[in-house]
Amino acid sequence: MIFGFFALIPTLITAETTTNEVIRDYCSLPDAVYADGVSAADFGATGWNYANAANWADLVVTCGGSFQSPIDIVTTGSTQEPVQPQIHYRSKDASVGYEEANKPYTKEYEGEYSEIEVTDASGSVIRYYAKQFHIHTPSEHTIDGKYYDLEIHFVHQAIQDDEQDCNTVKNKLTVFGLMFQESSSATDYEAFKPWFDSNATGEVDSFDLNDFFSKMSDATYYHYNGSLTTLPCSQTVNWVVFQQPLPISTAQLKQFQDFLSDSTLFPIKHNNRPIQHLNGRKILKGTAITAGVTEIPNLEASFAQTVAMAILLVILIQ
Ligand SMILES: [Zn+2]
Repeated sequence: MIFGFFALIPTLITAETTTNEVIRDYCSLPDAVYADGVSAADFGATGWNYANAANWADLVVTCGGSFQSPIDIVTTGSTQEPVQPQIHYRSKDASVGYEEANKPYTKEYEGEYSEIEVTDASGSVIRYYAKQFHIHTPSEHTIDGKYYDLEIHFVHQAIQDDEQDCNTVKNKLTVFGLMFQESSSATDYEAFKPWFDSNATGEVDSFDLNDFFSKMSDATYYHYNGSLTTLPCSQTVNWVVFQQPLPISTAQLKQFQDFLSDSTLFPIKHNNRPIQHLNGRKILKGTAITAGVTEIPNLEASFAQTVAMAILLVILIQ
């Protein structure tokens, strides 16, 4: 999973405002519990890789916790979700690009490309903003024991504002896991081209997430409480893993696999954490009820309309 996420947070919180940038008060993640002798400065930077994944708990105690990710999703053991999460994607402002992050263990794009609203089991609507997305190969989650060729994680973090208090948000992160399976008949994704092209660096503005999310309507998903899948393994993730894989062409899959092959960081040619124990957690099953990507009402527009209505009302009263 979720590479360099913690390193990113202070940067985003303290980033200077530009004309296109909105500063949000992201809900802070719980501090990781570090093993004796391991400084916070060391986590994520040195000492871990995928060859020593079985020993991450020696570096960060949390990685040995009871609610770790990824897991094998046993579909016959899942129960129906009591409340369907209302997942609404809001399209990215065309003026805001994606920044390719310099991460050693994956390819990652950062940018507030969308927001989602998720209704939790109590019926409360929790709002999250997209922070970044990144890639694993092969997949981290398995479904009935089956690995897929690729898994993208779309990471969203809850915010605190006038409408939402962080204390009411149980899981500060919601991550969508989307599977891809090699297919000889698949056509290349336009969205992947700037991302997978090794010559492309810096900001990219042509990455259209609708390439993926428009295909996720009425999709079966599995939902459980888990963790980051890289250090510090914080157990604060609301996981939503979609069952149906999307096809990926042989050429585009190879492009990402070559990224692993080229790096001395990947002696075992993969960047997926081994499967973790379920430890009695429930896996909930549901169907995404949105018809593809839908628009969340624009809060600013709604506010403007409210003001306009109020002015109109005052005029009428007078
Ligand atoms: Zn991930």
